[in-house]
Amino acid sequence: MMSDIFGVSAPAKLNLALNIVGRRADGYHLLDSLFAFCGLADGLRFQPSDDLTLSISGSWGSQITDNADNLVLRAALLLRDHAGSKAGAAIHLTKHIPVAAGLGGGSADAAAALRGLNRFWNLHCAEDQLFGLAAKLGADVPACLASHPVLATGIGDLLRPLPPLPPCGILLVNPRVATPTPAVFKAFAKAHPVIAPRSLVSFEHSFADLDALVSVLAQRGNDLLTAAISVTPVIGEVLHALRALPDCRYAHLSGSGATCFGLFATEELAVEAAAKLAAHQPDWWCWSGSWVSSQ
Ligand code: C5P
Repeated sequence: MMSDIFGVSAPAKLNLALNIVGRRADGYHLLDSLFAFCGLADGLRFQPSDDLTLSISGSWGSQITDNADNLVLRAALLLRDHAGSKAGAAIHLTKHIPVAAGLGGGSADAAAALRGLNRFWNLHCAEDQLFGLAAKLGADVPACLASHPVLATGIGDLLRPLPPLPPCGILLVNPRVATPTPAVFKAFAKAHPVIAPRSLVSFEHSFADLDALVSVLAQRGNDLLTAAISVTPVIGEVLHALRALPDCRYAHLSGSGATCFGLFATEELAVEAAAKLAAHQPDWWCWSGSWVSSQ
């Protein structure tokens, strides 16, 4: 076992576009979604220990529990069982990503726990085995394990790697209303008992620059928006406020919400926009930055 303290980061996921193209017999929805990862990240630290424990801090830390339901511990146990190991670790999670917010925070933490503990415990689990374990933990966890732009299909678990996204500034805004994913999919299913097949514009030409990306995103949108607003009505106000910012080139909902994102030509413009928005809506959570550097 490694004796040093070892850390990994868990970047937040954005669904830049999310289209629902079908429904499985078990009720899960078939997606066609562009996943991207931004510089906002949770941190995981591992220290040697005889037991497997989790402690949590950070601005969103009080919103989640450190019991066995936590995806980090579930990931650790799954990996340990898979490898036939009984190793321990004192895991510390610093939570910067809003919880139940459409940013895949829990999935990102689970993916980072798989990747980090595989190294910390020297298990040498191959990449495809880690992806198999990730899929057991949640629909978004395999994409978070990749942590670079992917086109996700299936229930979000079939991934096609995409080229790096054009540089831009990102503003994330969350009204601090937890919006559980199952409730939003339930509202969507009620409003759409049948999902008709349709053709979607390809992302193929969307990587040249921000104009090209925005043009494809605008044609795709996020099919969960209406359902998310029915669960958390303030999402409509957040999106309106983002779209009213003078330099905002595109804004939409991420995942099942409630976080909305705005794209800007530069990171500086996103930082300025965050300051403007915070002056009007001091209670909303805002983050500005860019893509994760490893994209
Ligand atoms: O897999 P995950 O825990 O992220 O999904 C949470 C819930 O969201 C599922 O129980 C399901 O109700 C819904 N969901 C869905 N279709 C997906 C992903 C999630 O209906 N592709």
